[in-house]
Amino acid sequence: MKNISILGSTGSIGTQTLDIVRNNLDLNVVAIAGNSNVELLRQQIEEFSPDIVCVYQEEKAEELRAYYKDYEVKIVSGMDGLIEAATWDSADIVLTAVVGMIGIQPTIAAIKARKTIALANKETLVCAGHIIMPLSREMGVKILPVDSEHSAIFQSLNGENPRQLEKILLTASGGPFRGWTREQMKNVKLADALNHPNWSMGKKITIDSATMVNKGLEVIEAKWLFNVPYDKIQIVVQPQSLIHSMVQFVDGGIMAQLGTPDMKLPIQYALFYPDRREMDSERVDFGKIAGITFEDPDFENFKGLALALRAAKEGGSLPTVFNAANEYAVAKFLKEEISFLDITEMIEYAMNNHEFIPNPTVEEILKIEQDTRKLLEERF
Ligand code: NDP
Ligand code: MG
Repeated sequence: MKNISILGSTGSIGTQTLDIVRNNLDLNVVAIAGNSNVELLRQQIEEFSPDIVCVYQEEKAEELRAYYKDYEVKIVSGMDGLIEAATWDSADIVLTAVVGMIGIQPTIAAIKARKTIALANKETLVCAGHIIMPLSREMGVKILPVDSEHSAIFQSLNGENPRQLEKILLTASGGPFRGWTREQMKNVKLADALNHPNWSMGKKITIDSATMVNKGLEVIEAKWLFNVPYDKIQIVVQPQSLIHSMVQFVDGGIMAQLGTPDMKLPIQYALFYPDRREMDSERVDFGKIAGITFEDPDFENFKGLALALRAAKEGGSLPTVFNAANEYAVAKFLKEEISFLDITEMIEYAMNNHEFIPNPTVEEILKIEQDTRKLLEERF
C-alpha cells in the first residue's frame, strides 16, 4: 500500500490523480488540499476517506468543519494547514499540484519530512530550485517529475549515464497562437487563449501555454530537475504533441518518449516509479497520424519565452520576479482586466525594475513576490 497526499486535489492534475487512485487499489489517499472548492472536497472526502483535509481559505474550512463535526476527518486551513497536509505522518508520497508559488513552503516541508515528491507544481521549482534540489539530495528524497515533458526526459534517461547527455530537446506545442505575430495577438480574447489545441488543463497553465511562458518555466524546471546548464536545453516546437520530449547523447543518438497527450501517464509513472502499470487509455495509432512536424520557437513574437530565458540565465531572484509577475498578470487577464499582450509587458516591467538578489532565501522569495505585486499594482 502506498499512502499519498495530494496538494491541489480539486484541480486538473489533482482530479486525474484521483482517477488513477480509483484504478489502483494499492494507492491510499491520506491527505488532500484545495483552495476553496468545498463542494468537490466533500465528494473526495466521502469517496477516499482521507485523514486530513486542508481548505486554504479559513472561512471555507469552517464551512466544511461544521458539516463534518461528527466525522473523523481533520480539517485544517491556511499555510500551516497546507504544510500539515504535506507532511502528514503516514504519507509516503506527496503529489504537488497546487498552482503557483504557494507550493514553495509545503514542498520544502515535505522534503524535510522525507516524503517522496511527485512534482507537478513547476512554479515552486522555478523560484526555489536552488534551495529545493540541494535539500532533496541532503534528505535523500526523490523528486519525480509529473510535467509531461520532464517525465518524458526522465523516462528517456532511464538506464543511461547522465554524464553522456549532450542536450535536452524540450518539445512545445506552440499553443493556440503558434505562427501569429504580436500584431495578430493584440486583440486576443480570453476564450481564444483558453482554447489549447492539444491539452485540457487548469486555466493558469493554459494561458501560460498561449503566451509560451509555460515553456520558459519548463526550461528552468528542467535545469533544476536534471542539473544541466541552459546552453544544453533546446526548445523544439512539435505542434502535434506526440513527442513529449527527447534527450540527445554525446554520440548523437536521440531517445524520445511518445504518446497521446494524456497527463495520466506521467502522473501514474511518478506514482509507481520505477514500475509501469497498465493503463486503459487511448493508444497512438501511427497509421492515422498525418505527420510529425518541427519548428524553431519564435522568441520575437513570444516575448515571454525570451524573458524567461533572460531570467533563467541571470538566475538569482530574477526567475521569482518573472514568475510572480506572470502569476499576477495572468490572474488579471483571467478577470479580463488586461489584454493578452499586457501579460508579457508586465513581466518585462517587473524584471526591469527589480533589485537583484543573487541567492534568495525562502523569506526573500516570498518578499519578492509581494514586492512584485505591489510594483505592478502601482504601475498598471
Ligand atoms: P488547476 O487550476 O486545475 O488546479 C489548481 C489546484 O490548486 C486546485 O486544486 C486549487 O484548489 C489548488 N489551490 C490553488 N491555490 C491553493 C492554495 N492557496 N492552497 C491550496 N490549494 C490551492 O491547476 P492544474 O491542475 O492545471 O495545475 C496544477 C500545477 O500543475 C500547476 O503548477 C501547473 O503548472 C502544473 N501542471 C499542470 C498540467 C495540467 O495538465 N493541468 C501539466 C503540467 C503541469 P481550488 O480548486 O479550491 O481552487
Ligand atoms: Mg508541460
